[in-house]
Amino acid sequence: MDILLQCKPDRRERWQAALQAAIPDCAVRVWPDVGDPAGIELIVTSSRLPIDLSSLPNLRFIATTGAGVEHLIGSVDGIPPEVPIVRVVDPKLTSSMAEYVLTAVLRYHREFHLFEAAQKVGKWLTPVRCDPEARAIGIMGLGALGQASARLLTTLGFRVLGWSRRLKDIDGIECHHGADGLRAMLAKTEILVCLLPLTAETEGILDAAAFALLPTGATLINVGRGKHIVETDLLAALDAGPLAHATLDVFTEEPLPHEHAFWAHPNITVTPHIASMTVPESAVEGIAHALRLARRGEPLPLTVDRSLGY
Ligand code: NAP
Repeated sequence: MDILLQCKPDRRERWQAALQAAIPDCAVRVWPDVGDPAGIELIVTSSRLPIDLSSLPNLRFIATTGAGVEHLIGSVDGIPPEVPIVRVVDPKLTSSMAEYVLTAVLRYHREFHLFEAAQKVGKWLTPVRCDPEARAIGIMGLGALGQASARLLTTLGFRVLGWSRRLKDIDGIECHHGADGLRAMLAKTEILVCLLPLTAETEGILDAAAFALLPTGATLINVGRGKHIVETDLLAALDAGPLAHATLDVFTEEPLPHEHAFWAHPNITVTPHIASMTVPESAVEGIAHALRLARRGEPLPLTVDRSLGY
């Protein structure tokens, strides 16, 4: 049986070699070389493939090459419900995300964004000291990436709050859930991190009402998806308060168009969707594990719940 692989051309050779090494009893066919449909046991893909999946009688599941799945399930011609989608949870992607969040949090915590602005006008600023224990970081999304980021921040002593759909009990993290929980968390949050998946419920969640709950001078780090933010509301909250600064890694349109207001805004840092990227060599272990379970007829881990959208 074979694996059908689809991914960006510059990543293809690495994915192909990593899959071949982790699942040696399968050959790897590279899209669009579908070959004999009956020979395909697994699809590994970064996007929806324009093929009729019901024509692949031995397909066990689809594995994603990235953490977000909205592009796979969000369209009307998405993957049929009977085909499970297994989300990649790659240890290296996870640690890289936590590292990005830590970098951006420390920049705000030690107020480098203020010193960078002051330097442009030759102003000598005197910082106000704040211990990590007194700095409240609110993380929207306590999944694989949110929890790893939260844990790293707690090791440095930060006061970490988190928000998820279901209530969680995580040592050292003040957990919130539901609409009331979000309001309560935002009211206490000085540095807000968005690590939600993009779903019908979370699209546009960072809007004027959410920003209005934040304390004056709060900062935002968006590493979820661009569509979590209502862009005009973000610009208004930066210009009139309460937001002081935003670090944005993801955008509604990528690459961010040259003429977009975010590029030149003095209180926005743009990074080009580089917070974290799947490392094929470590991600394939999870895919191989899921395939072994599927072959034994056991339940698959990390499957996407289509009704929830993640
Ligand atoms: P995950 O493990 O599926 O976790 C998602 C978290 O969001 C869970 O805690 C979930 O709550 C929570 N959530 C979902 N819908 C919610 C809602 N309506 N209200 C409250 N909480 C909600 O996802 P992940 O692996 O951590 O990845 C998160 C996202 O990061 C991805 O979907 C992707 O968009 C983004 N990402 C960005 C980059 C980048 O380079 N910028 C790279 C990778 C991923 P429960 O725990 O209760 O289910």
